[in-house]
This record gives sequence, structure tokens and C-alpha cells, in this order.
Amino acid sequence: MSEIVNMSEVFGKNVFNETVMKERLPKAVFKKLKKTIEDGTELDPSIADVVAHAMMDWAIERGATHYTHWFQPLTGVTAEKHDSFISAPDSEGKVIMEFSGKELIKGEPDASSFPSGGLRATFEARGYTAWDCTSPAFLKEDAIGVTLCIPTAFCSYTGEALDQKTPLLRSMQAIDEQSLRIMRLFGNTTAKRVVPSVGPEQEYFLVDRAKYLQRKDLIYTGRTLFGAMPPKGQELDDHYFGAIRERIGSYMNEVNKELWKLGVTAKTQHNEVAPAQHELAPIYDQANLAVDHNQMVMETLKKVAGRHGLSCLLHEKPFAGVNGSGKHNNWSLTSDDGVNLLSPGETPHENIQFLLVLACILKAVDVHADLLRESAADVGNDHRLGANEAPPAIISVFLGEQLEDVIDQLCSTGEATHSKKGGTLKTGVATLPDLDKDATDRNRTSPFAFTGNKFEFRMVGSADSIASPNVVLNTIVAEAFKEAADELEKADDFDTAVHDMIKKLLREHKHIIFNGNGYSDAWVEEAERRGLPNIRSMVDAIPALTTEKAIKLFESFNVFTEAELQSRAEVEYEAYAKVINIEAKTMLDMAGKQIIPAVIKYTTELAESLGKVKSACPEADTSVQAELLTETSALLSDMKVALAALADIVEECEGMESGSEQAHAYHDKVVPAMAALRAPADKLEMIVDKDLWPFPSYGDLMFEV
Ligand code: ADP
Ligand code: MG
Repeated sequence: MSEIVNMSEVFGKNVFNETVMKERLPKAVFKKLKKTIEDGTELDPSIADVVAHAMMDWAIERGATHYTHWFQPLTGVTAEKHDSFISAPDSEGKVIMEFSGKELIKGEPDASSFPSGGLRATFEARGYTAWDCTSPAFLKEDAIGVTLCIPTAFCSYTGEALDQKTPLLRSMQAIDEQSLRIMRLFGNTTAKRVVPSVGPEQEYFLVDRAKYLQRKDLIYTGRTLFGAMPPKGQELDDHYFGAIRERIGSYMNEVNKELWKLGVTAKTQHNEVAPAQHELAPIYDQANLAVDHNQMVMETLKKVAGRHGLSCLLHEKPFAGVNGSGKHNNWSLTSDDGVNLLSPGETPHENIQFLLVLACILKAVDVHADLLRESAADVGNDHRLGANEAPPAIISVFLGEQLEDVIDQLCSTGEATHSKKGGTLKTGVATLPDLDKDATDRNRTSPFAFTGNKFEFRMVGSADSIASPNVVLNTIVAEAFKEAADELEKADDFDTAVHDMIKKLLREHKHIIFNGNGYSDAWVEEAERRGLPNIRSMVDAIPALTTEKAIKLFESFNVFTEAELQSRAEVEYEAYAKVINIEAKTMLDMAGKQIIPAVIKYTTELAESLGKVKSACPEADTSVQAELLTETSALLSDMKVALAALADIVEECEGMESGSEQAHAYHDKVVPAMAALRAPADKLEMIVDKDLWPFPSYGDLMFEV
């Protein structure tokens, strides 16, 4: 049994949340801070010292020795630089603790070593971190001790965003403003703020740490680069929702506890489809917090794994042949007076505001499908999107029967007069209750699915930050809302105007709706007929960031400047090339230093056995040894040829200047050369004596956790 957890005692224990602030801050200061947090107004610098002091006292009482600005540069992970609270000792040699308002509000980390895509030259080092008081400070407890973490945004000396948070906060302002305009049109006078709500479901794999440490590919790249399929994969569907094994259970128990302390509402946990794959989902929160919390979730999953002799793989495709991992990004819009703009109610056909919101979202997703696709692109996700397991690389929207029917009515007759009902599900067993059925079934193959009162964007990769998908969602929907509001605010007859607009939008963008099987080849052809983009790889997705359409969109809502977009594209090209380069070099290393020597040992043993048997008994049948020797030697020479080819091509690509051309070269030449090296190696793994194979197999990794 794991230690019993008292949830109400543990939850939020390490967060400088509203309750703590109320307790510890003078009333006037608390009020000002709360106003900033709630209304999104500027922070009054005059209260910073008081807040900082209270924060420090609270942290020190809980054992903190250091503080750090905690930020999210474009590396995909978080960054921190610790400073202790210590200041110069007083005349009696006693140490004094200090943490000023200035230190709380602003930090100056060296910006030159973070990716900036050309925004910063290495000699122009200055960058700033600025406190984002809408995300509460928290204490991180680990082997280092206790550290006060202050969530911050990260900008360059010249004010360009160098991180994930800055554009996210900007996009939240945009969607807030435009959503309120829509609500006002429908007579709402009370709402003061609309925020995007986000609930990300995080998938991950767990493997035994001792075995992990025997595989250089896992250590350097987070995924396996070689590996033959074991006799059993996921075909029996016996892992999905299966009983959670003891070792994993005790891991999950600790993960939950750590997350609850940090105020993360870890809610759902279960085994996923692939062996050794699991999922964790928190309760949704406002986008900014959800993004921060998801970083904490990923960090905690990894950290706690070590304590249980496990390693957590967040990579999108740790193993070929079984499902990879994604992150479903559930997204909706909620006003401070409690309206979910994506809630259709019982009778969607009568809910005109909902229909307008829906029509605008369809338009946004249709017009900017390329940007949404781009926001889910990362190197690892190239293995999922478009393969037969994750959503296809084609963006389409699943609405389900009920809404599709309403839309059909609107488009064909101009009026929607009824909504399909869910009805009752008869269980057929007298002792079981009949269940109220949802009006719509689910569709797991859709990349962008309406699920009752939210959209679920399913393309996002498991290792990626969820910031960019939400930046894109917020901004593209803000644009569609703005265009609708601009027109409707001027209309003489609002009712007619809004009706006409909904019909027009639905007719124009209906082709993005697809309720069928997104994994089928027929859909790929159908999507092509409909003119929907099918962007198959990260390198082909990146240009979406810098089209005229994208620049106009992001600049008009002050989310990104053109320079910031260019820089992000550069960062991504560079990241792609670097990741593939590391993978290729790891393969060369493993093939050259581990696999080939092991195979040579095996062929030598075979040859020796062949010779010995022959000389002991010349009539004995040694055809098996001979055939194995021939087959193994042939594969070995294939490997050697593929290895040399990969080494050459890597050298050539490494010499190129970084940018689009280099990234494409890695994609077009290095990736296939890696596959060519892997193929004979995986065949050899099936032949060579297990005792001689230099690292744990897929079976060892996935079934012996
Ligand atoms: P599923 O069955 O797809 O796993 P869940 O109901 O468990 O769906 O929800 C998945 C995620 O969606 C959770 O993080 C949940 O909190 C979140 N979620 C639920 N409602 C909303 C909403 N209105 N807006 C955003 N996220 C939501
Ligand atoms: Mg889901």
C-alpha cells in the first residue's frame, strides 16, 4: 500500500495562491494584486516590494533557500536560474535574507544561449524575464531543496518575445476582447472577461531505468532508433484501461501527490493503448495556467520516475510498431459570469449565439488549417501525424450527428427547426439502469473534434508545449469573431443579419467538416478533392508561420510581429536539423560500436561451430549453420554499406548553413538513410543470439516494467 494521502491537506500546499495572499498581504495590496490578476490590468510597481517580502517569508517558512524566475524559452522545456535569498551578512556576521520587489518583477538572464532564430546575436546577451502574476508562484521540492519559482515571460532587450508565454498572454487578450464583442451583440452586459479554458490529456511511456540506461538511443534521443517487434504488441487491446500494476500504481500515487501540492488538479489516470503507455489528465483551467501546469506535469512525470527506478518517455514515438503519444488539447471559451460560449444547450438550433460561435470557429479552422497543423509540428510528431494511429495530418472538424443535422437544416432550408436528441440507451439487463445517451457519438480519428462543450485538438505531440496550439486557436478565432462583430455591430436588423451570416459562414466552410474515419485512405483522397491541405512533415509545415496571411493575422492582434514569426520559423528549422543530426549520430554510434561488433562475434561463433562440427563429424548436416552464416553475413554487409552512406550524408548536411534548406536536406536525405540502416539491424536482432545482442529489446522494455 502506498502512503495514504489527505487530499484537502495536500492540495495547493506549495502554491502562493489567493488564500495565502489574502492571509499574508495588507488588504489594500491584496486588492490591487487581485485586480491585476482578474482584470488583466498592469501591475502597480509600488506594491511589488510588499508582495515580494510576503512571498519570501512564506517560502522560507516552508524551507526554501532559493528563488528563480521560471520561464519557457523556445527549447520546449522550462528554464530556471536559482539565486539564494542570502544577502551580505550584517556586522555581527548574521546572514540576512532579501528578496525585493525588483527581483520579483524583473530578471535578467543571459538571453544569448536560448534559441532566438536570429533575433539576438550571441554578443547581444541581454534578455528580461517579467513576472506573470496571473500564474501563481510555487515551491519546487526536490533533491536541490526547496525553490521558490516565479512564473515569468521572457523577452529580448528590444522587447521581442523569446518564449512561449508572451504570445500566449497576448493571444488571450485578443480572444478576450473579441469574444466580449460577440457576447454584447447578444445582449450580455455583465461579462467582463472571456478566457480560453484548456484541459490537456498527457500520454507517456514508462520503462525500467536500468534498461533505459543500457540504450544510448533512449538516453540521447528519447526514442528507440533500432528494435525489432516482440511477438506481442498491442493487438490484444489488453493494456488499454487495464488494471494498473503495483509498481506503476505507486508511481502514479506519488506523481499525483507532487502535482496536487503544486495546485495541479491531476484528475484522470489510466493505462493507454500501447504496452507500458499511460495517460494523465488534469481538470481544465485557464489557458495560461494550463500551459504552465502541463510543463509541471511533464517535469514531475520525469522526476518521480527516477525515484521508482523508472524512466518516463515523453517522446511522441518511443517505439516503432505500437502507438505513439499525443496530448489532446481540450479548448473552450468561458466568461467570468459563467457562460461557456461553446455550450450548445439542449436545443442547439435555437441557440443563435452558439451557432455563430461555431460558424466562426469553422471558418477560423478552415482558413488557418495550415497554422493549426504547424502548431502541432515537432520532430517527434512527424512519426505520428499521418501514420495510422494518430489523427491524420489533414485538418478537419468533427461535429457529430446532432450539430451536423442542424447545419444541414440551416444550409438547405435556411431555418433550423429541431435538434436531434440523445434518447435512452437500453442496457437490456433488468438490474442495470438505462442510461441517458449523448446526442452524438465520439470519433477518435478526428484531429479537431467537438465533444459537447469544447473542441478537442488531438494533433499536439506529447513532448511539446501546448502553448503554440493555444496561441493559434485563440488568435484565429479572435479574427473570425472580429470579422463577424465588425459587420454585425453595423447591422440595422441584427436578427436577420446574424441569421444570414451563420448561413453564409456554414456554406462557405462546411467542407472542413468530416465525421467519418480519418484514418482511411479514402479520406485522404476526399480531402484532396475538397482542397484541404495535407501537410505531411514538420519541415513542410513551418512555412505556414510566415505566409502573408499569417503575418497579417498575428500582427493585427499584436500576438507576433513579422520578425518574431521569422525567428520562430528559424528556430524550428534549426531544431529539426539538430534533432535529426543527433538521432543519426546516435545510430552511427550504436551500429558501429555495438551492433556490428556483436554480429561479428556471432558470425565468428557460428563459423567456429561450423568448423568444429565438420571436423568432428564430416558427414553431419551443417546446413543450418551455413545458411545462418550466409544470411547474417549478407545483412552485416548491408549494414556496413548503409552505415557508410548515412555517415557521408550526415557530414554533408552538417556542413550546410542552418535554415530551411538544411532542414529539408535532413528530412529528405538523412531520415531515409537512417531507415536504411535500421532495416538490416532489426532483421539481425531476430537472428543473433539474445545473449550477444548489445542492448535490451522492445520486449524487455515494454513488457518488463
Ligand atoms: P475524454 O473522455 O476525452 O478524456 P474528459 O471529459 O475526461 O474527456 O476531458 C478531458 C479533458 O477536457 C480534461 O482535462 C477536462 O478537464 C477537459 N475539459 C472538460 N471540459 C472542458 C471545457 N469546457 N473546456 C476545456 N477543457 C475541458
Ligand atoms: Mg479525450
